[in-house]
Parts: sequence; structure tokens; C-alpha cells
Amino acid sequence: MARTAPRARPDRERVLETVHERCPACGRRLRYRYDNRHTVATLAGLVRLRLRIRRCEDPGCARYRRPYRPEAEGAIVLPRHEFGLDVIALVGALRYREHQSVPEIHRALLERGVAVCERTVTNLLDRYDELVATSLADDDRLRAVLAGQGRAILALDGLQPDVGHEVLWVVRECLSGEVLLARSLLSSTGEDLAALLREVAARVGVPIAGVVSDGQHSVRRAVRLALPGVPHQLCQFHYLREAALPIFEADRHAKKELKKRVRGVRPIERAVEGRDDPEAEAVRGYCAAVRSALTDDGRPPLAASGLRLKDRLEAVATSLDRAAAKGG
Ligand SMILES: [Zn+2]
Repeated sequence: MARTAPRARPDRERVLETVHERCPACGRRLRYRYDNRHTVATLAGLVRLRLRIRRCEDPGCARYRRPYRPEAEGAIVLPRHEFGLDVIALVGALRYREHQSVPEIHRALLERGVAVCERTVTNLLDRYDELVATSLADDDRLRAVLAGQGRAILALDGLQPDVGHEVLWVVRECLSGEVLLARSLLSSTGEDLAALLREVAARVGVPIAGVVSDGQHSVRRAVRLALPGVPHQLCQFHYLREAALPIFEADRHAKKELKKRVRGVRPIERAVEGRDDPEAEAVRGYCAAVRSALTDDGRPPLAASGLRLKDRLEAVATSLDRAAAKGG
């Protein structure tokens, strides 16, 4: 039977890469292996995540062929969930800070454009309760998972629902995808967050191999205070790349169009082949300049290779105009 209502389409795609490029167990380079796609309902609309999964390909390694997922995934959504962590944080805040009922929360979510039924609101509230009740101290399963990996890579993220001033802080473990601690805080200074990290560090039972965050000031300070000497990596490159994606696409298109216009280099080179007079030398020089401009690729998003190509071709054209004006 045909669907009566079209399934909602995601508004946009977010490509997430791993911050760590080396295997946490053996230190060898993690190889990119495949993409996972996952559609998530967030407060900002439906988002399709494209997760670039890496693996260690060393047969002697304890993590041989175990997938390593982009660390930022868990900042957006809990494992195997279809609603974003921001939605869960908002549901919790509306319930416990604003003392709203489930029907009221349901209405609030619909107004925010989150397509959800009332029963799901109850489930989301259960998830919130579970999240803030997570306790490393009395969760044997969680401790066994961590002991099995022999190390932990922590991530610290703050979710701020736009009601009240509290922020839901979540400490995750990136290898297992498990949440280790979640706490709603009124104050988020470096000292406040350091207390959360110390609490996790005291109970995690394995060495902490690294921390990942989006790098906001108070988080950096918290990591320095609570986990001195532990490497702290920032996810901001990924946000930068995401922000730059539309520019990158436009640039790539511009470059393709520019390349079409300078296709005739080879016939010109051939026309002066075997000549060594100054004119032929000049023609060869220009042809070489165009060729090298065509192969001068920058690494997106920090260099827009289409724009660079345009600059270089313009320099060649200006020089040719100058030569023509001089009667050359
Ligand atoms: Zn390895």
C-alpha cells in the first residue's frame, strides 16, 4: 500500500570524521573503511549524519577491525536513538525545571517542529531519567565494558535547552559510546566541570587516554585542572569544515568551469614545438603557468582551490594583456 503521508526528509547532512586518526590500542594509523548513515530528529530539524568509520587493520592489534566512530556523534545523539540529545535535554528541563506535564511537553515539542507523539515524549523522559541516573559506581556492566577495553577516551559536551540557565553536561566514553555521567548544572565554570571529570576519573577503573571536546574555554580549563597531562583534542575542525561545506561545493563548481575555458593549452604548445625564438619561449612560459595553475590544489576547507585557480589565471591574463599592449 502507498504511504498516505510522505516520510519527512532530512533538511541537511552533517559529515562527521574521527578526531583521532591513530588506533587507541597500537598507535597505528586508523584506516577509513565505510560510512554509516543515521537520521536524527534534533531541535534544529531532521539531520542526516554521515559517519566516517575507521578501523585498525593490524591483525596483531587488540582492536583489529573494531570500528572507531566519529567522537562527535555522541554529542548529537545517544547510540541507536532517533531523537537528538538536545531534544532529551529540553524534555528534562521542561519536566523538572518548568514542571510541565507530558501533554504540555508534547505541545512544546510540536511547536518547535519536532514531529513526535505523546507516547514518545514519555519514552524521552525515561531516557532523560536514565541519563542523569547513570552512575559508574554501581554499574557493573559499564565497568566491565571499560575494563575490557583497557582504556577510556572521554568526551565532555554541554547541552543547553533554551529554558532556564541550566546546562546538561554529559561525559561520554568514545570507544564504547557509553555515557558515564550526566548532570544538569546551573554554573559551568572550569572548576564546576573539573569536578565532573574528577568524579569520572576516580571511578572509571582504566587509564584515560584522551579527552575530546569542542574546545570551549571552561572545558579546556576543566581538563587542565582535573586531568593534567591527558591529551585534549578539539573537534572544532569538523565544525569548521561543516560550516565551509557550501563554500567548498561552490568553489569546486567554479574550478570545473574555469578548467573548461583553458582546455586549449596543448594545441598552443604544439604550435610552437621545435622553435626556440623569444616568442615561442614566451608562449611556452605562459602555457607552463596555466598548467601549473591547473594542478595547484589546496586542501579544503582552508584553501579554496577554485579561487586560487582564478587568481593565477587572472595573473596570466593580465601579463598577456600587458605584453599585447607593449606590442609583443
Ligand atoms: Zn590497532
